[in-house]
Amino acid sequence: DKEYVGFAALPNQLHRKSVKKGFDFTLMVAGESGLGKSTLINSLFLTNLYEDRQVPEASARLSQTLTIERRGVEIEERGVKVKLTLVDTPGFGDSVDCSDCWLPVVKFIEEQFEQYLRDESGLNRKNIQDSRVHCCLYFISPFGRGLRPLDVAFLRAVHEKVNIIPVIGKADALLPQETQALKQKGRWGDCIEAEMSKSSPDLEKGKESIPFAVVGSCEVVRDGRNRPVRGRRYSWGTVEVENPHHCDFLNLRRMLVQTHLQDLKEVTHDLLYEGYRARCLQSLAR
Ligand code: GDP
Ligand code: MG
Repeated sequence: DKEYVGFAALPNQLHRKSVKKGFDFTLMVAGESGLGKSTLINSLFLTNLYEDRQVPEASARLSQTLTIERRGVEIEERGVKVKLTLVDTPGFGDSVDCSDCWLPVVKFIEEQFEQYLRDESGLNRKNIQDSRVHCCLYFISPFGRGLRPLDVAFLRAVHEKVNIIPVIGKADALLPQETQALKQKGRWGDCIEAEMSKSSPDLEKGKESIPFAVVGSCEVVRDGRNRPVRGRRYSWGTVEVENPHHCDFLNLRRMLVQTHLQDLKEVTHDLLYEGYRARCLQSLAR
């Protein structure tokens, strides 16, 4: 009764050759502290990457500055190997004045392009270690009425540099109709979608789920049939992470891992990185 992330479906996306080499993928999470980013990562990949993390005290939080952390994990599932790199951005939006607190994130993303460009023109260009960020899960608060100025500023700044998948964190804080309202295009979807359509691969299929309303948990609870599942228990009942009636978690994981992983990599290379390269060349020519 092992749980699976779903990587085993990857070979369908690619040729045998690359299967032998293994897949690598770099995923970034960004958004305000406490929205469940680390918990979701643990839930998505069935790891406990962030189990030892303490929630910082409020006072520590106020002074906290943004740091960028990179962690690698190798997951093998039914003979398919994936080298996953997770980039976390603790401290995002935590400081009192955070009008441009996201600048280090943009800088980080660009630095990976810079490195790749350097490696590409180097001697060992056949074996480049690709550290570029292939996708960024951007967490939106369930407690607001939509995008905050910080969200908009960040999305504007990065949409040409990284694939963005917006998610509503801690969706169990919302009633179904509230979730729908928050998702409503009219509210703020226009903005996101305009940004996304430029940079993202064809997310058409999963589009009605975007932004994905997700719930994460590191705990195992019992479902209605007394089976152990990942979830959160409340006095009024249990929220199951992997129950599509409860949240979009499975949709998100399916899209990320099974159907779009390769797309996200290709868009990163063919579109976003190319754009960066072109901008570099232009500035050289000037
Ligand atoms: P991060 O700062 O964004 O990485 O957030 P964490 O993953 O550290 O989670 C912060 C707190 O929220 C922890 O106490 C988690 O147990 C809790 N939490 C995480 N995900 C969820 C969720 O989906 N729903 C609810 N209600 N709480 C969550
Ligand atoms: Mg965290």
